[in-house]
Amino acid sequence: MSGEWEVVIGLEIHVQLSTISKIFSGSSATFGAEPNTQASALDLALPGVLPVVNEAIYPKAIAFGLGIGANIGTRSCFDRKNYFYPDLPKGYQITQMDEPIVLGGEVEITLADGTTKTIRVTRAHLEEDAGKSLHEDFHGMTGIDLNRAGTPLLEIVSEPDMRSAEEAVSYAKTIHQLVTYLSVSDGDMSQGSLRCDANVSLRKKGADAYGTRTETKNVNSFRFLEAAIKYEVVRQTEVLESGGKITQETRLYDPDKDETRPMRSKETATDYRYFPEPDLLPVIIDDAFIAKVRDSMPELPAQKRARFHTEMGLTDEDSRVLSSELGLATYFEACVNICSDPIMAANWVKGDLLGGLNRDNIEISDSPVTAQTMAEIIVRIQDGTISGKIAKNVFNAVWEGKTDSVDDYIQSEGLVQVSDSHELEPIVDRIIADNPKQAEQFRSGKTKLLGFFVGQVMKETAGKANPKQVNDLIISRLNG
Ligand code: ADP
Ligand code: MG
Repeated sequence: MSGEWEVVIGLEIHVQLSTISKIFSGSSATFGAEPNTQASALDLALPGVLPVVNEAIYPKAIAFGLGIGANIGTRSCFDRKNYFYPDLPKGYQITQMDEPIVLGGEVEITLADGTTKTIRVTRAHLEEDAGKSLHEDFHGMTGIDLNRAGTPLLEIVSEPDMRSAEEAVSYAKTIHQLVTYLSVSDGDMSQGSLRCDANVSLRKKGADAYGTRTETKNVNSFRFLEAAIKYEVVRQTEVLESGGKITQETRLYDPDKDETRPMRSKETATDYRYFPEPDLLPVIIDDAFIAKVRDSMPELPAQKRARFHTEMGLTDEDSRVLSSELGLATYFEACVNICSDPIMAANWVKGDLLGGLNRDNIEISDSPVTAQTMAEIIVRIQDGTISGKIAKNVFNAVWEGKTDSVDDYIQSEGLVQVSDSHELEPIVDRIIADNPKQAEQFRSGKTKLLGFFVGQVMKETAGKANPKQVNDLIISRLNG
């Protein structure tokens, strides 16, 4: 891309609220049921039905608003957004137009080089999801599944503050992190619990006015979000540099072809004939209710990250990684509670645990090594029962399901560290005697050879010798 264009991105993120039932009916909002088994008369829009708002949506939306420092709309009203689509049996979507529940606020994102940037949130409003059109199993026809119709959503709209695909992905990840920390949503993107619409435009560097944007709809992974934006940037650059104009339109991203394609030309607000929803009364949210939500909010990701750094003494980078996901942070803290050594716990969790989870593609909630077990391994290093090296073998044994008891495994495999100098001295002496040349070099100042001797002793003892003790013994024997 030539250097003269600046990329401008604003995201609309649809977050599915983790409620038991739907937003205006008693149907289950659980994912994955047989089509149309969770669709009541209301979800089917049969005549004469009336919506009743599910009050569980309010604490979740308000917690999100407080989490980004927004104002909470104290009068919560709904509006009808009219459009025709097969998966929308009512012919309108109930949403919030003029009086969204969350107004303003901002989030701080961190980029790969460690710099941070503030992204402003315009608003977040409550609305119902539509059903799903199913094209695959029906020859020449389309099936409609209304299980998803009426699932509660929070639509989070950002200001056009992002300037690259990387910033947009970091923002989406930060929102994902916040809504999962706050239990606003399960955040499962593979099930559509968090979907992004990416608004992308270009303008000449230094220009004030924004260029015409396209909106790529319903992107359901961070990887696709990055790819879709990058594709749009290249495409729009080509159009503009060949003297063309960008058409304001809705597009979709096709992961198989790695391209975006036009879906429909952009509607404007007037196309939707918004009007106040007559079947639902305004809900007044008072200060006491907001205070109650605030009091029940858990520690936020940014607070946790700061605490890992200042109170536990972790590096900035480790604090960021270990607070990045609630499940990971909870695991790490449970581990620290037992072993009382945050640095050691951080190294194990970041290294062996995350390494294993990534390699075997396992979620932390399904980790074969629990936080409790991880802590037990660390405690056995701390109390000198096993060396750090042997601890890796114990970790792997638990990981592979060979044992579920750290102590039993250490005993039955004879892994207890040899810290007894009566046992170690003869071995050290023999190795020094077997390697006279190296001993000579060590004595004449080549102290780097210490590692060689330690290595020999470790080999001899199958890694079970206490490394600190071996060090001390070798030095005293060679110098003695
Ligand atoms: P609409 O209601 O038509 O979708 P909005 O004004 O609410 O339009 O904007 C929707 C999203 O598009 C917001 O996230 C906003 O930041 C973003 N946006 C608006 N204008 C631009 C632009 N020129 N380039 C990129 N993003 C934009
Ligand atoms: Mg929009």
